[in-house]
Amino acid sequence: MNKIPYKIYLEESEMPKKWYNVRADMKNKPAPLLNPGTLKPMTAEELEGVFCKELVEQELDDKTPYIDIPREIRDFYKMYRPSPLVRAYCLEEKLGTPAKIYYKFEGNNTSGSHKLNSAIAQAYYAKKQGLKGVTTETGAGQWGTALSMACAYFGLDCRVYMVKCSYEQKPFRREVMRTYGADVTLSPSDTTEVGRKMLEKFPGTGGSLGCAISEAVEAAVSNEGYRYVLGSVLSQVLLHQSVIGLETKAALDKYGVTPDIIIGCAGGGSNLGGLISPFMGEKLRGEKDYRFIAVEPASCPSLTRGVYAYDFCDTGMVCPLAKMYTLGSSFIPSPNHAGGLRYHGMSSVLSQLYDDGLMEAVSVEQTEVFKAAEQFARVEGILPAPESSHAIKVAVDEAMKCKETGEEKTIVFGLTGTGYFDMTAYEKFNNGEMTDYIPTDADLKKGIDGLPKVPANL
Ligand SMILES: *Cc1c(COP(=O)(O)O)cnc(C)c1O
Repeated sequence: MNKIPYKIYLEESEMPKKWYNVRADMKNKPAPLLNPGTLKPMTAEELEGVFCKELVEQELDDKTPYIDIPREIRDFYKMYRPSPLVRAYCLEEKLGTPAKIYYKFEGNNTSGSHKLNSAIAQAYYAKKQGLKGVTTETGAGQWGTALSMACAYFGLDCRVYMVKCSYEQKPFRREVMRTYGADVTLSPSDTTEVGRKMLEKFPGTGGSLGCAISEAVEAAVSNEGYRYVLGSVLSQVLLHQSVIGLETKAALDKYGVTPDIIIGCAGGGSNLGGLISPFMGEKLRGEKDYRFIAVEPASCPSLTRGVYAYDFCDTGMVCPLAKMYTLGSSFIPSPNHAGGLRYHGMSSVLSQLYDDGLMEAVSVEQTEVFKAAEQFARVEGILPAPESSHAIKVAVDEAMKCKETGEEKTIVFGLTGTGYFDMTAYEKFNNGEMTDYIPTDADLKKGIDGLPKVPANL
């Protein structure tokens, strides 16, 4: 067989033309979204008040395995996709491991992460529906940046609520968004009722993703011609992100490579869900077996220490209830530097797969994550995002286990983005000032005690 190249690209003709909807192959479907008032499953009509119509269809569709990627979206994908699948020869050599390591690099676009894959799809459907614009929240700024780029491309208005403490860590993120024409408001703000209440209750708060979501939803429903869009957690986002897994699988298949372990960082679960989807599909259909590992920060451990229950997706409790592994919507994680992983809940698709024992999860501390990031940057050249570095850390750990046992496992991990806007975090690490705050059981109990009461027999 040919030697595997450093970078495996796909020809334009080999690019996916359909997204893969893993829910179609799940025996235990993810639980439906519930209306927080009636506790009944949300209908398409109810959801269409908040979300774009075709995206609602995708959200509710747990039967159709393949969904066409519209030509307009494929055209945009062509500008920065396929993303490279890299064989980490240099890292393998440095570690002295017999393991074969691959990473799928999603940082090769201006927004710097995988989030553009779903942003462009969501902007497309909003435009097709004839809307004026969309509202959203952004934590670390990656989603807001991706969405601004997508909205600029389709000529849509883009209003972003940015978590205040993230803005203070990464002020230049806002300028990128404004350059693409987005209107950026720091959250909590006095432009919404939810924001004003938050400011009154917790003056001086740095905000949270949950609160920014509530503000963005309020802004969408109270402005004619606007809908709300979300960059992770929802099943439609996992669907769009399946392009990552489909490309990865096509590239590996070209060389006859079958992974043993697939690893990704998990914030709301979209990159991991997208990366593993086609492989998980094979596992669900009994065709192949893989180990899947979700990596989360020890400071925000929704899978490893949360509970599987219905919860609000936001702090303001205006969103539908989703059944997921959660720490409670009132949980505010310590200011970890992996902003994109500071969400209290987890995609209901991944939550169900995890609950069914089809996926594993581990949590890691941030100083260890930055050590792995530094090691990776020095041999592979790419300066990774702190979020992505969670996956690096566990990939390295697995490769080191192979070194002990002599096993030649094939490990694939998702390298979701670059860390150029995270230099404050790297600075803390380089100065030896980074700390690891792990919430105590008592900290977690508060959030979990605040879960909404939903009868178990729904
Ligand atoms: C947002 C983000 C994540 C986490 O989000 P998921 O929805 O869990 O994928 C991971 N890495 C980067 C670079 C991000 O921007």
